[in-house]
Amino acid sequence: MTKIIKQYENIRNKINAYRFALFLVNWDSETEAPSGCFINRSKQVGTLNEEIYKLQTAKETSIIINQLYKNRKQLDPILSHEIVEFKRSLNRMKKVPIKEFVEYRKLLAVSPKTWQQAKKTADFSLFQPTLEKIVDYTKRYIKYVETKKNQGYDILLDEYERGYKTKDYDLFFSELKDELVPFIQKVTAKSLEYNDAFVNQTYPIEKQKEFVKYLETVMQYDTTRGLMKESEHPFTSGFGPADVRYTNHFHEDNLISALFSAIHELGHAIYEQQVNPELENTLLWGGGSMALHESQSRFFENIIGRSRGFWKHHFPRLKNTFKKQFKGIKAKDFYQYINLVKPSLIRTEADELTYPIHIMIRYDIEKDLFTNQIQVKDIPAIWNVKVKEYLGIEVPNDREGVLQDIHWACGMFGYFPTYALGSAYAAQIFRTMNKDFKVLKSLKNKNTEEVNYWLKINLHQYGATMKPKVLFKTVARGNFNPKYYIRYLIRKYSKLYQLDQ
Ligand SMILES: [Zn+2]
Repeated sequence: MTKIIKQYENIRNKINAYRFALFLVNWDSETEAPSGCFINRSKQVGTLNEEIYKLQTAKETSIIINQLYKNRKQLDPILSHEIVEFKRSLNRMKKVPIKEFVEYRKLLAVSPKTWQQAKKTADFSLFQPTLEKIVDYTKRYIKYVETKKNQGYDILLDEYERGYKTKDYDLFFSELKDELVPFIQKVTAKSLEYNDAFVNQTYPIEKQKEFVKYLETVMQYDTTRGLMKESEHPFTSGFGPADVRYTNHFHEDNLISALFSAIHELGHAIYEQQVNPELENTLLWGGGSMALHESQSRFFENIIGRSRGFWKHHFPRLKNTFKKQFKGIKAKDFYQYINLVKPSLIRTEADELTYPIHIMIRYDIEKDLFTNQIQVKDIPAIWNVKVKEYLGIEVPNDREGVLQDIHWACGMFGYFPTYALGSAYAAQIFRTMNKDFKVLKSLKNKNTEEVNYWLKINLHQYGATMKPKVLFKTVARGNFNPKYYIRYLIRKYSKLYQLDQ
């Protein structure tokens, strides 16, 4: 056994080295790479992916994995879990012809640039041929890996959140829709009175960065194991707990966007920094699942970052950083503004209450696309109708409509629903955490140390060593139930908007 484990570790080290190279290339592509480099880059990325594919599907690898799989009960639990997962993805991978896989990877190395161009000019037709290719490949992929138990769009959903299928999301979203849509109408019928003179001001970018640095210390982000750069679309990207980077975007006329993007991404980053360092060289150092990852970013962004408790302690610092802009503004004014409920076009800027509606729109469209009810060319028109129907607003152009998010350009279908699920997870985790200590009161220490510690012990340390549903049950001490999320939202916003519950 020892010999075969060693052989396995050799293969794993090589896979990790290739993945590390791809991680760095991707980071560079999204942050600093010159625009002219992408044609060549797509070839290099294609080759690296081909090498990983060959290594994973090699006969020698299969023999080793199968032997370890057979003897998995004798392995330590972490290695055993890794082998089970390896075998699972190997089985899938082998079903996809290598030529198609490499071609697809090459396409994905340039498709985000095409999307960016289309977004810039607000013209979906520029992106349409690329998106059609991505969707075509994804449909072929589904056919390759389909089984009796798992078919169609469910394959994609399951890939981003194991164990969640169309029937689960249908149920989840219909519950949200029934409860939240009428509640949003009640909330938006009322208005809040507060001083919003700070909103239409100019915020020098250097000062914004200075405050974001401060937020990093508040959230205890370890900058010896991470850094921040700028990109079109904020994201977090890591390679083990010792290297967790994130990006942000800064606009002089929008301070709020940079602040909450930072808190959101730092939520993701803290998760990965707090994974047990012993998992570093395994394939399990990432988060437990997409929804679990998103539960952490949304937890920090909304439950912590949009709470009164948080700003009670950090608003004075904010006011001091932007003295002129915040003249005469009270913490309460700021708190009300950052929790303002207003149906809007951009998902990432949406308020906490209307946010899941944006996800519902994506989910509906993806589902129809992969059940062949609609075609790629129809998407912008359908998008605009749905936004009107669910949010009651007109979409002025594709940039603020269907082109706003990068995900489809990266081939990520089935990913969006995990955002809403993550938000719901966050509310239930918050409820459990409050049984152990008064979460919002703990913020009086001017940092999130107590919160981070609880999350480390109950969730972060485990990385991806358990199945997502098991991990959720461990941290929430119970099965998932969307009623906690609905209850959390209704309570918070009833109080803010002085509505009877
Ligand atoms: Zn996120």
